[in-house]
Amino acid sequence: MKTKTHKESFFKGIGVSPGIFIGRATLVARRNLRISARRLKSEEAVEKEIDKFLKARDAFVRELEEVIPTSPEMVQKVVDTQITILRDPKLEQDVIRIIREEKRPAEYAINKKLTELAENIERSEWDYLRERASDIREIARDLIQRIQSSEHPQGHKVTLRNRAIIAYDLSVQETLRAIKGSAKAFAFAYGGRTTHAGIIIHNYHLPAVFALGDGFIASVNDGDRIIVDGYSGVVILHPKKATLLRYQNLRDRYQLHEKKLLELKDNPAMTKDQVRITLLANIDVPDELDLVKKFGAQGIGLFRTEYLFENYKLDEAIQTRIYRKVARTVYPGPFVIRLFDLGADKVFGLPMQNPGLGMRGIRVLLKDEELLRTQIRAIIKANVMGNVKLMIPMVSVVEEIEKVKEILKQEYRKLKSNPVYRRVQLPELGIMVETPSAAVMSDMMAEHVQFFSIGTNDLTQYMLAVARGNAELAYMYDHLHPAVIRTIKLISENAHKKNIWVGVCGELASDPLGIPLLVGMHVDELSVAPGTLLSTKHIVNSISFSRASELVEDVLKMSSGQDVRNAVRQFLREFIGDEIPGGIEHEA
Ligand code: PEP
Ligand code: MG
Repeated sequence: MKTKTHKESFFKGIGVSPGIFIGRATLVARRNLRISARRLKSEEAVEKEIDKFLKARDAFVRELEEVIPTSPEMVQKVVDTQITILRDPKLEQDVIRIIREEKRPAEYAINKKLTELAENIERSEWDYLRERASDIREIARDLIQRIQSSEHPQGHKVTLRNRAIIAYDLSVQETLRAIKGSAKAFAFAYGGRTTHAGIIIHNYHLPAVFALGDGFIASVNDGDRIIVDGYSGVVILHPKKATLLRYQNLRDRYQLHEKKLLELKDNPAMTKDQVRITLLANIDVPDELDLVKKFGAQGIGLFRTEYLFENYKLDEAIQTRIYRKVARTVYPGPFVIRLFDLGADKVFGLPMQNPGLGMRGIRVLLKDEELLRTQIRAIIKANVMGNVKLMIPMVSVVEEIEKVKEILKQEYRKLKSNPVYRRVQLPELGIMVETPSAAVMSDMMAEHVQFFSIGTNDLTQYMLAVARGNAELAYMYDHLHPAVIRTIKLISENAHKKNIWVGVCGELASDPLGIPLLVGMHVDELSVAPGTLLSTKHIVNSISFSRASELVEDVLKMSSGQDVRNAVRQFLREFIGDEIPGGIEHEA
């Protein structure tokens, strides 16, 4: 047991989503499972443990089976392997034998058997097989966690309502579940600003701090009083009265500031010298449409459809219905639907080497062409009013665009020949520019599409060779680095030379320090988390385009992200004073 101390303590991490939370903590996950090796004293206890194992295993298999019908082929293969391992009669016999003969709990037997299996496989000479060892360890963890949480129901049935959720990290689905359960803030040991859990929390406008380290988790107890300062990236446990008062004041100030921003809801986003910027919203799940309406976006600049995968049985009819509903809601504003960006850190982390450079986005879809064609048909069917646009993720070579274009034309022709779909229109085609090759080739890519949307989250990771979720290198993952800024300038110029519009849908588009640079580089559109629509508009409306262009010229001569940051801060001070949201600086 941890000893409870109630001393005020500060933890410094990365502010992932701004805002201040003052309240209680809920601890939801323990990375290092503690496995009990107690001796079972009766036959009845032995039978109970066997029953626990079988029930946990069956529940796990059922869950996996439910995933299969809505998954792409590659994912089905992974899930199938897991089911085969779990259903293996030898595994069942061995676990039951260990429980019976050694008189140990189910979690002990599962751990022993599956660790043994993983270690054997690790000794294999066959690469593919060796890589399966980590799948087996994951299965063991999941099974053990299931058993432990059924013994300690608070493990699963945690209080989420109005709490700050404390975890090592959470998957996208776990994060969404916590948000639906009315969690109000997040503090994770791992993760970075553009991990997908981070983006979702940001979209929902809840305070979050990531990369707080293992020591943080070890210090928190369920129900502890806590402050999460998503502006400065600081978490405070057991705050003293004076700290609480300072934060209450700050929170009140920001709430007032946000209320004032609401007055901008129906105004256009336009610089002081009359340059208009189209301001759109990013959404991950259709539920976020309420926020989009609340904050007055002109449309949707990025719908990350891959998150539909776990929430819906995804046949063509259901996809069509979802896309149509959003298209109608945002009409006459644009609705940019991005094709499933599956793979790497998204939704289904397929076990593979170096996943960020592997099967991801359009590469997955071109391999699973039926999945691609189904989605394209649903997108065309949703384009009855002409405001739907189709966007390809993770493009790295021109041929990928050509192939999608061909499929798009084929499916469109087929649909049009059916009188039921005579009203549908061909969606505009665009690409995410988020790989260095797409950026460098953007002059040529622009000849094949009608728009670009720059994905600064991935562009930053690929330009700087720093994984976006790597907490250890979070200090290097900097979307304001001159390498990234220069690349955006190149893409924007190439788009305009070929007369197509260019937007930005990565997190840089809502970073107060990124907005003046993007405006100064003359991007046409910014697509941001719904919760940051108004603060983004406020900055656009407060600055001058001509001065922002001069700022860009200065920044292009700089060699470090810190210099860029200082220059933009100085610029903003001149236009909006000290209003840039920021928390309280602490010696953490
Ligand atoms: C990006 O890479 O900037 C982007 C918007 O896409 P995602 O964050 O979904 O990878
Ligand atoms: Mg991306």
